[in-house]
Amino acid sequence: MTKEVIVRFPPSPTGYLHIGGARTAIFNWLFAQKTGGKLILRIEDTDVERSTEESIDGIIESLKWLGITWDEGPYFQSHFIKEHQAAAQKLLESGHAYKCFCTKETLDIKREEALKKKGSLHYDGTCRNLTPEEVSAKEAEGIPYTIRLKVPRVEGSVCFKDIVYGFIEKKYEDIDDFVIVRSNGQPLYILSNTVDDIRDRITHVLRGQDGLVNTPKQILLYKALGAPIPEFAHMSLTLDPQKAKISKRTHGELVAVHFYREHGFLPWALVNFLVRLGWSTPDSRDIFTKEELIEAFSLEGVNRANSVFNVNKNDPKFFTDPKALSINSHYIRNIPVEELEPYVRAELEKAGIWNPEFESARRDWYLATIDLIRSRYHVTTEFATLGRAYFSDEYQIEEKALEKNILKHDGLKNWFSILADRLESIESFSIEETENVIRDMAEELDIKAGILINGIRAAVTGQTVGPGLFDILIAIGQKRVVERLRKAVSFFD
Ligand code: GLU
Repeated sequence: MTKEVIVRFPPSPTGYLHIGGARTAIFNWLFAQKTGGKLILRIEDTDVERSTEESIDGIIESLKWLGITWDEGPYFQSHFIKEHQAAAQKLLESGHAYKCFCTKETLDIKREEALKKKGSLHYDGTCRNLTPEEVSAKEAEGIPYTIRLKVPRVEGSVCFKDIVYGFIEKKYEDIDDFVIVRSNGQPLYILSNTVDDIRDRITHVLRGQDGLVNTPKQILLYKALGAPIPEFAHMSLTLDPQKAKISKRTHGELVAVHFYREHGFLPWALVNFLVRLGWSTPDSRDIFTKEELIEAFSLEGVNRANSVFNVNKNDPKFFTDPKALSINSHYIRNIPVEELEPYVRAELEKAGIWNPEFESARRDWYLATIDLIRSRYHVTTEFATLGRAYFSDEYQIEEKALEKNILKHDGLKNWFSILADRLESIESFSIEETENVIRDMAEELDIKAGILINGIRAAVTGQTVGPGLFDILIAIGQKRVVERLRKAVSFFD
């Protein structure tokens, strides 16, 4: 029987969940789903100074919003500090670790000398060979000590096969006798992370490429603790167009999952986009349903090459990667209207234009209107901005629409008023009838129908573009169209 896959997502709660972290979480989740394994959520909160409750809540909320489910946890690393310390104790007892009484000052001096001589910056091993008596004497004096792992000092190396990066080798001589417990008794992150992974019986460590520097040391820890070594798969980095690593520090909110939520992304569209950053199928397909993605996903498809995330700080409309927007718009256009509706509702509520009739008397109209206007939108916030005139009578005429489609044609002042009367007198306000009225009038006036069509669109929706005008008129309704055209006459005053 093959071993059950157990993976983990262990964020450090020192800020929001950013898209790089979300991508790692998604890969872990997909791998667990694909293999019928388990995903554990572990909050690595041992950095007390930087960890916050707010960040924990934010990360969990973002994961939930993305639809990432986990089978165990959240566990909190800080609850296991005693266990991490016990592991260090065990390493001392088994001779795999030693107490180092060197003070910070001594180490700094040695380091500086080594720097001058361009020698090795590694710990020189002064305390590695202390006799038990010497150790006891120093302890009796109350000299504080750190605990260091005894890296083999023979010729050899740590080797492993990373699922993404392939064979990796690190010579023992290039690995320092690294500290695993500070002199105040606090375990170092590298120890805590490893001990937690051992306890949680993690079979595959899937994490960002920045974790790769720790892997050889962690493998030494696994070996010293007599624990089975998991498989490792490191995910390539996500870079910005300037080839800088995407980070909270340089990109701020633009890389936060919650930013995408607030700016009208559908969760699955974001998942779909993020998974394609650094993972692909041989046919480079972009759009996957959840089931399709689980079916198609494999760690072998994870690319070694770093991916580029085209965030654009300076463009308020295309604030993010064009591909992310195009995937989002694909979902806005194509998911069942009923599925899209709650997101639209949230936007209308946020904008203060939600009308309870949309869920009762006007429900059918409301759903049909969403369906009519959605094809041009990239983000759901546009239902309340570009689409505002459909749901509310309080809307602005876009500057461009006013200038180009209304005020440029003086005649419209009169024509709007005549059109209002004629449209008002239509008995059955249908696509056909409204089209007849408008086209007949253009013919009568000997002008292009486009002048009337664009003028009316601008007046009744505030926009220069949108669905076909006759569909728009039916959606907005006879009474409101007539009122809006009459009001538009005053724009010329
Ligand atoms: N807590 C680490 C981070 O947030 C995770 C490291 C790991 O996956 O081993 O970067």
